[in-house]
Amino acid sequence: MRKWRVPRAPKTPPAPAALNPAQLAGFRRKLLAWFHRAKRDLPWRRTRDPYRIWISEIMLQQTRVAAVIPYYGRFLKRFPNVRALARARLETVLRHWAGLGYYSRARNLHRAAKAIVTRHGGRFPRELDEALALAGIGRYTAAAVLSIAYGKPLAVLDGNGARVLARLGAVRGDLRAPRHWRQFEKASAALLAPRAAGDWNQAMMELGAKVCTPMAPHCAECPVAAFCRARSLGIENEVPTARRKRVPVQITVAAAVLLDANGRTLLVRPDAHTSVAEVESLFSRLWQFPAVIAGKNARAELAAHLRKQCGMDGDGNKFQMTPMDPARHTVTFREIQLAPFLVRLARLPSPPAGNSKTIPLSCVSKLAVSSATRKIAASAISQTDNVP
Ligand code: SF4
Repeated sequence: MRKWRVPRAPKTPPAPAALNPAQLAGFRRKLLAWFHRAKRDLPWRRTRDPYRIWISEIMLQQTRVAAVIPYYGRFLKRFPNVRALARARLETVLRHWAGLGYYSRARNLHRAAKAIVTRHGGRFPRELDEALALAGIGRYTAAAVLSIAYGKPLAVLDGNGARVLARLGAVRGDLRAPRHWRQFEKASAALLAPRAAGDWNQAMMELGAKVCTPMAPHCAECPVAAFCRARSLGIENEVPTARRKRVPVQITVAAAVLLDANGRTLLVRPDAHTSVAEVESLFSRLWQFPAVIAGKNARAELAAHLRKQCGMDGDGNKFQMTPMDPARHTVTFREIQLAPFLVRLARLPSPPAGNSKTIPLSCVSKLAVSSATRKIAASAISQTDNVP
């Protein structure tokens, strides 16, 4: 009589942290060979200078590679080494950062550059605890710079690497959940090729960015597909679980472009006591047009703000506000409607806080200003000729 066999469960590769020495060696060899063959030629990959690698790592935080490339070149031309950066005025550094966003990165870079010059003789520190003591440098950035520049055997884990590890181990759930993240940190430390740590870290991130992509990973091109549990189970599109997006918050910001007969405008830099946190983060604590988060009546609320914060009271009470084309702006989960108003004046006011400057409207975008301020200035420049 014919016997029926009970089908076996599909054989899946072991989780990354449980590879035996031969498998681990094979995994490393395949991934590094692929990286050397397929890596993108990016400017920060042509150097081992810790200063240049550090700048690239900071710029790449929350910012796409294509957006960083032109800034990276210009920034290094102006600040070719850490001493030049430390010597520069913060205003100058911010101006060269303008448009990249998240300006705290530039402020921290400047502070850290001064510390590197005074405490480390102008050389990026080699020890992890010394690197972590610098402004704006967390575990990820420290490990990236030290492994790439100095070959320190420190594993780097970012979102791309975590996604690769989640799929290799068929780990379901939210990548960023602390218990998963700890698991990925262990796995990435176990996989690290200690004698090629910099290349290894970059290879894992490159695999996540180019092959093991968030949607529809390109498994046919993957150098480590044979080690991948998610692929062998056919669940590579289900792992990891997509994060729920935060519901966007809609905000209207009314801003005043005050303009005198000579084409000069007024910019303010509100101090921490007078500004609203959301306005502060929108304009990155840089020079900005007087602005207010508006409710139903943007014009009236902005007018009240101008009277109170810019000293436009007394005779100035009768100023005219002409609405200009609105612009859209997004900061993380905030969707902002910029509602600019043009206010023509014989003489610009002097805000009582004193933290203000007057400047030709056409020169605003040459200052260190946020992209929201640039959009308002551009709207005003394009419309001032047509606005009575
Ligand atoms: Fe990612 Fe596919 Fe490679 Fe697995 S086989 S690591 S899912 S690209």
